[in-house]
Amino acid sequence: MLITANNPNRKSWISVKPNSDFPIQNIPFGVFITKDDIVTVGTRIGDLAIDLGALHQLGYFKGIDLTDDIFLQDSLNDFISDGRKTWRKVRNRIADIFDINNNELQFNELHREKVLFDMKDVEMQLPVNIGDYTDFYSSKDHATNVETLLKGVDKSRSSNWLHMPIAYHGRSSSVVISGTNIRRPKGQTVIENDTTPIFGPSNMLDFELEVAFITTDANKMGEHISVKDAEEHIFGLVLLNDWTARDIQKWEFEPLGPFLSKNFASTISPWIVTLDALEPFRVVSQPQDPKPLHYLQQEGKKTIDINLQVSLKPDKGSETIISNSNFKNQYWTMAQQLSHHTINGCNVRSGDLFGSGTVSGNTQESYGSMIELTWAGTKPINLKDGSNRKFINDFDTVIMRGFCKNESVRIGFGECKGKVFPPKKELIK
Ligand code: MN
Repeated sequence: MLITANNPNRKSWISVKPNSDFPIQNIPFGVFITKDDIVTVGTRIGDLAIDLGALHQLGYFKGIDLTDDIFLQDSLNDFISDGRKTWRKVRNRIADIFDINNNELQFNELHREKVLFDMKDVEMQLPVNIGDYTDFYSSKDHATNVETLLKGVDKSRSSNWLHMPIAYHGRSSSVVISGTNIRRPKGQTVIENDTTPIFGPSNMLDFELEVAFITTDANKMGEHISVKDAEEHIFGLVLLNDWTARDIQKWEFEPLGPFLSKNFASTISPWIVTLDALEPFRVVSQPQDPKPLHYLQQEGKKTIDINLQVSLKPDKGSETIISNSNFKNQYWTMAQQLSHHTINGCNVRSGDLFGSGTVSGNTQESYGSMIELTWAGTKPINLKDGSNRKFINDFDTVIMRGFCKNESVRIGFGECKGKVFPPKKELIK
């Protein structure tokens, strides 16, 4: 089935600003609450939120096999379970409904009032009920930098790293939507070269610039997903900030990996940009040497050219861009990650979230975390307001953005942001 929604020449009757993340070629999926307090699955064109529940009730999805309440839900899990064919049909239909040459909804004021909302008047929710969250570690530059900074130069990247996509199982209960405030975590840390811990708020709070993919029900327990079929089970992508307390991480992460240094919060952007929408931006991934084992071997354009950016905004200052990276820098691809994740028979479900790992490039400007950008605090970053940062201060806001662009279309992810607050006072004792 053709992805007619991706036609770069298509124009919408909804006006879209030239640099918008959401032209008619995007058609992402999300969940929002309208000002009448109704929760619905929706999409977005320009600065308008589109209520897919209302569109479906009004008969605009006639001929597509959908249950009556598929969009009248507080998550996309059931729709994602319907599979790629249905996602594609629905996205193609939405593109037709909002095409400038289609009069049906365009000139029906009564219907338009039921379907369209100003983005300012809706509240975005988590788009999926996340059963499980796994975070990979798939940037070669990030892995090399972090191992050097946390373990010392003599213990660079572990010997398994070039043979498989390394990951840890994250915590889904604390995945929150962009705009949610973050509390600085407290925990055990040690002073340099000491082995007796002290307790208190983290002094090395960091972000991790990541992209995450969301799957459908991909396999039964005991079965595995081949690298060739893996992308069939990926619904779409979001931006992810995998907040990390480096001082807590440094003390706790051997021998079993990160725990409290990461499970206090992870922020995602609200709109899931479908893998279908990202098709025009496919590129060949990083060369892999040594050649991976047979079940991880793949050919063709297996990654996506997504420009990524991080800004830091002090409480009373303006934003400073502190990192510019690209998703195509990753060593392991999404298909390899998903195939590796299931090679032992681990089952993957609709709405599961898979973080890429910090997306760092090979230049200092393209590092995707503070620990790398400031080289563990030894080279502080200067901000526009004259202050500088080794790590994230209280009341700082971290904003991540991502977009793909070619000569005819620009498709973006919107923002993934969070403001940091000190720990609750009564709890520091
Ligand atoms: Mn991470």
